[in-house]
Amino acid sequence: MPIHEKNLIRPENISTHDNLVMDGIDVSGDWSTFIKTRVVADYNEDLQDEIAALPGGEYIHRCWQCGSCTNSCTINAINPDFNPRYWIYLIRMGFESELVRDKDLIWQCVSCNKCTSACPRDVVPEAVMKATAHWLERKGYTRKSSSTVFDEVFSEQVIERGKIEDGEVVMNFFNRTGQKLTQPWLIEMVKRMIKNLPVQMLTMMGLATIFKPKTRNWGPARDAINDYIEEQEALLDEKLGPSVPYKAPEPAPTQIPAE
Ligand code: SF4
Ligand code: SF4
Repeated sequence: MPIHEKNLIRPENISTHDNLVMDGIDVSGDWSTFIKTRVVADYNEDLQDEIAALPGGEYIHRCWQCGSCTNSCTINAINPDFNPRYWIYLIRMGFESELVRDKDLIWQCVSCNKCTSACPRDVVPEAVMKATAHWLERKGYTRKSSSTVFDEVFSEQVIERGKIEDGEVVMNFFNRTGQKLTQPWLIEMVKRMIKNLPVQMLTMMGLATIFKPKTRNWGPARDAINDYIEEQEALLDEKLGPSVPYKAPEPAPTQIPAE
């Protein structure tokens, strides 16, 4: 039996009457609160399987809705609308449109894993949150999060060369997320590095930026990793359909003030 938190009742579904007398009793205001029935007609019967196909979503079927994840959640303590138990319920029921309503909250999971420690069924809710966030990106409901872009930049470099060069990872990440490299905290960090790190280390870092470190004989490993990624992508395409690019919503038309 699912748990229904009061904050999940949407304000637009609550109605009261200012003046209502029933059988001679005044039930105006809060006493006449009605909650309109919510009808969900657009089930996605494959939703649980789609989330389970993504890394981290494998154990979602084990959830028995105890709520320990939400109860222990760091973000829920700040914002009660952040509710892993509820989202797992929506996924298991196939309520896609309801899940999508919270698309701008789900990615806010900070991966503290308190929910994972509290879960009595080894669902690994933290990983389910990550899988759900990736599902939203893949279906084009949200743009790629900074965390996804960072993973891509980092993985691309490792796969290509078998090693990473920190400066290049940071630069590519900033480029792809449209951030300037001249941010005060970054400038301060570089200044401190120049001031405090040994010259030999700074020289090695500078050379790595120019010559891009590579693991010797990396080619076969790179090919094997790329083959594996291709296989996994094909499996995901089969289960979820091809990725849908995110389209930013059209800006609302500007109201021209009446003369
Ligand atoms: S990992 Fe995410 S969902 Fe789990 S407790 Fe931390 S913030 Fe909440
Ligand atoms: S703690 Fe585990 S079993 Fe309980 S609601 Fe959360 S995911 Fe489900």
